[in-house]
Amino acid sequence: MGGILAIVSHPDDETFGCGGTIALHGGESSVLCLTCNPRDRRGELEAACEILGIAKPIILIEDDVTPSRSLTRHIADVIVAEKPSVVITHLSFDYHADHRATHDLVKEAIEWAAHTTTYKKPHLVERLLLMEVNTLIPSPHVVVDITETMDKKKLAVKAYSTQLAKFPWDYYDKFVEKKARLRGVQGNCTYAEAFIDEPLSKNSPFYKAKTTKTLLRRK
Ligand SMILES: [Zn+2]
Repeated sequence: MGGILAIVSHPDDETFGCGGTIALHGGESSVLCLTCNPRDRRGELEAACEILGIAKPIILIEDDVTPSRSLTRHIADVIVAEKPSVVITHLSFDYHADHRATHDLVKEAIEWAAHTTTYKKPHLVERLLLMEVNTLIPSPHVVVDITETMDKKKLAVKAYSTQLAKFPWDYYDKFVEKKARLRGVQGNCTYAEAFIDEPLSKNSPFYKAKTTKTLLRRK
């Protein structure tokens, strides 16, 4: 409750995209994975999450992530149950169609989760961050210093032996390392993860909490 929920298309996206960040927040982080094909990737996902120090991942085992009302509702149900302050998901311009679909589903589910007409006890997510897996963010809004947890992230990558075997030239190991170094340079630290801060629509009348009487910060 009040932590971080990473919602991803496939096992391994959580580690590549935000593994260092969720490890940094330990017990306050959870993972929702929408698919698990083939099914033996469940074991890899659970092993990676254990290394990152987070509780057992929630897996929906959908065959595909084509946006639908039922899938949106399933995701909203998890958001209402987990009550995260921050949700992390994929980029809207990711190269992978599943990732783009997941972005759209998650944005819609965040909206549904806050609706008093859908839930007796709705939940308002405060912040949506978008992560980079293989598609890079041109100008990140948020750079998280993961120097402390980079070792865990690298170990979690090793848990995905079926994926690593697809690229024998150590693509994933090198990409994870170089990307974190690059973001570290931008963030003035050794290793970092980058995110886009995605505005939430927060449609009235469901968002009383956003009401303000001043646009200026008060001391
Ligand atoms: Zn993926």
